[in-house]
Amino acid sequence: MAALSSQRAQNDARMRLLLLAPPGAGKGTQARRLSRYYGIEHISTGDLLRREVAQATLIGREAKLFLDRGDLVPDHVIRDMVVEAVTEADAHGGFLLDGYPRNLAQADEAARIARDNGITINAAVYLEVGRDELLRRLLGRGGDAGAAGARSDDDIETIRHRLEVFDSQTWPLVDYFAQRGVLIAVDGEQPVAQVTEDIIEQVALHRDDRRVDAGQMVRLVEAVDDPTLPAREHPGD
Ligand code: AMP
Repeated sequence: MAALSSQRAQNDARMRLLLLAPPGAGKGTQARRLSRYYGIEHISTGDLLRREVAQATLIGREAKLFLDRGDLVPDHVIRDMVVEAVTEADAHGGFLLDGYPRNLAQADEAARIARDNGITINAAVYLEVGRDELLRRLLGRGGDAGAAGARSDDDIETIRHRLEVFDSQTWPLVDYFAQRGVLIAVDGEQPVAQVTEDIIEQVALHRDDRRVDAGQMVRLVEAVDDPTLPAREHPGD
């Protein structure tokens, strides 16, 4: 009986993850796979901003120049967008926040938002990918202008600038989250499915409330690849 109610408490725990990675590390791909695996919402600040730009909203018009140059948009532009998306997703089981926070000021702001809304982050996941591999992937992505997946910030100069912005502004967050005991670092140069597995395994160990059976996890991760399946619920639910 006690085991049952403690199991229920574990299943009730919402999954809230942050995803941190340099451009080209596979952040979007892993975010989609993980949100599907955990049955939580994928919130990408880059996607939210690109939508605003496409719709030429007030935010979009302010953000466009920054996006095109590969610079971070001002913190105040991001803040309200994030608060709205996060609190809504949190009411529906949790979220994976992809692309926020992106600098130390945003990290402090994120901590305030979490505190004000009673949110505890389970882990900040960092995808480690070497510089040569990042450039290889990014140049491949932008090589064919106008191709599916090509982005307005994928030309060589902008790519280099986005990597510099990551080094100077976002990289310090790796240390920030490590000091707070929530950092999970995963080798992002492995095959996509292996990266997902490593993250899931480390998140489970980190939470220390669920031991994932290795065979079961492989089956679940394979299921993430099946586009015919509906987004799955949190395993064990
Ligand atoms: P991403 O899709 O995460 O690579 O983001 C694309 C672009 O959106 C970035 O290069 C920035 O211009 C902008 N952006 C996304 N998230 C943030 C953020 N948290 N703070 C500032 N700018 C952001």
